[in-house]
Amino acid sequence: MRIGFLGLGAIGRPIARHLTRSHQLRVWNRTAAKAASFASETGAEAVTTPREAARDAEVVFTCLPNSPEVEEVLAGGLEAALAPESTLVDLTSGIPETSRSIANRLSDRRIGWLDAPVSGGTAGADAGTLTIMIGGEAPVFSRVLPVLELFGKRIVHVGPAGAGHALKAVHNMLIAVNVFALGEGLTTLARAGVAPKTALEVINNANGRSFVSERLVPERVLSGAWPRTFRLALLDKDVAIARDLARSEGIEAPMMERVSELLAQAHQELGEEADHVEAIRLHERRAGVELRG
Ligand code: NDP
Repeated sequence: MRIGFLGLGAIGRPIARHLTRSHQLRVWNRTAAKAASFASETGAEAVTTPREAARDAEVVFTCLPNSPEVEEVLAGGLEAALAPESTLVDLTSGIPETSRSIANRLSDRRIGWLDAPVSGGTAGADAGTLTIMIGGEAPVFSRVLPVLELFGKRIVHVGPAGAGHALKAVHNMLIAVNVFALGEGLTTLARAGVAPKTALEVINNANGRSFVSERLVPERVLSGAWPRTFRLALLDKDVAIARDLARSEGIEAPMMERVSELLAQAHQELGEEADHVEAIRLHERRAGVELRG
């Protein structure tokens, strides 16, 4: 199958690498050097415009920061280059309303659409074990499923266009809530005389545990490693999408409102490149403690 792939960032690159194992890939990236290095590593063809990436492709993937960037690339030539009966699969964690609008436009030209945001981080992308939540029409999903299976382990069709993006935003809101809750909880405990490692030993063998307490805080904070794999700026965007969705549905969601404010503050204080778990650094600074193992 001929596949176009746009966006070789932290998560796009390892996903695209899995696709090169079974398919011919044309890749485009805004910073062209990244597409060139990917091509020399994998044998994919690097191209210089989104239009070229889509030429003759049966499936085109986008993996960009958010839906406005997807719209920008579509308007810049991608949309015109998509052929009837092809499918655009958007791996971006994007905005449900924008996805519905793109899906409607494409469907007028018999082009399929799936919103297909992923969960599992760069480690899951490297291992090819991502969870993929799909919004779109069932026949389009069935057609593309074998390609998704090259990098996904749990692939669930969750509803019509936009549903995948809605679920992803709410899912990431839950991660954000846990990051802030553990930042507050563990710094409070450290000041009260309970070491973070001891606190987590208990929490992780009791019912307050989460992926953040079991994996992210021990591996990234207690170890002092602070790796950068998923930018806090992107989590800020995700929670704002969840909050806006609740607002547009007329749901009162004080947790989403507050966590969104906290993330916007953390984003401003820590900058564009900070990892999402680094929000805990702010709790450490305010409490005057360091959460180390
Ligand atoms: P990165 O910031 O690492 O990469 C972003 C990519 O988008 C780069 O290829 C970048 O190009 C490109 N890009 C940025 N702005 C534009 C633009 N205006 N026009 C065209 N291309 C642009 O992000 P990630 O790869 O981490 O994330 C991509 C998506 O996947 C996001 O929606 C994110 O929320 C989601 N995601 C990320 C996960 C992770 O662990 N990292 C996990 C799950 C989902 P350039 O190289 O030129 O900067």
